Amino acid sequence: MSGERGSRGAAAPAATFSFSRMTTFEQCPRRYRYRYLDGVREGFQSIEAFMGQQVHATVEWLYNERIAGNEHAVEAAVGRYCSEFDKAGAASKPAIRVIRADMASEHYRRSGAEMLAAFHARRFAADVLETVAMERHFEIDVDEGIRFQGYIDRLARDGDGTLHVIDFKTGSRVPARFEGKDADQLDAYALALFTQNGDDELVLVLEYLRTATVRTKRIRRSQIDEIRRRLAARIAAAQLATVFPPVPGALCGWCGFNDLCEACPPRVLQQGRSAR
Ligand code: SF4
Repeated sequence: MSGERGSRGAAAPAATFSFSRMTTFEQCPRRYRYRYLDGVREGFQSIEAFMGQQVHATVEWLYNERIAGNEHAVEAAVGRYCSEFDKAGAASKPAIRVIRADMASEHYRRSGAEMLAAFHARRFAADVLETVAMERHFEIDVDEGIRFQGYIDRLARDGDGTLHVIDFKTGSRVPARFEGKDADQLDAYALALFTQNGDDELVLVLEYLRTATVRTKRIRRSQIDEIRRRLAARIAAAQLATVFPPVPGALCGWCGFNDLCEACPPRVLQQGRSAR
């Protein structure tokens, strides 16, 4: 984990920011400090995050298998997901925690399986885009002393040769339009691709797996200056911060530092319980 603290010294290189690092700072600077500056390990992983990882891994497997010439039916995808969910869940360190008192681990396991089944039937089976890469890593200079990195879930080309930048989402919130935090993330990824590749136009795609809903936007190279300015300002705010106040709220239950943080509401600490 990169030490942002060191970056404030004159000779130390600046930390490379991810979208998640930047938004963690914006949501709760204290959580950002624990995770990225102090290097503290979270005490647990939420079951929602864990399930999302398993769904992502299965989608990645499906496309990689297609690249290798192997097509898999929905049963194989769901079977693989369930088996990996159980294996990874049993081995997980830190422990996985169910936060919502009215839910059990099995609810999330089933919900991920249903998501995959819907995705396979409504998106994957009829998908004609040619996959260029899965989990493509990038790292770019956004401005002097400001580096940004990320992993693009899927890059694919359509019949016209236009590159599609695709991000899979497993959360329940689906925006009415291509906007908000998820859209900002893909704008930032577009900046990276325009910086590294010669494409003049990209299609940005948010795939909400829970509802098999898609939000898309075409973006042109001429639009990147504004994206670069906004991203640089957001990263600089975190990079230059010297105080990291806690921002207690609804998300404290899902924060793996909540047993460490003096601002965590007491009722939140009583909610957590192990998924196993
Ligand atoms: S428990 Fe809440 S206030 Fe404390 S670090 Fe986590 S999110 Fe921030």
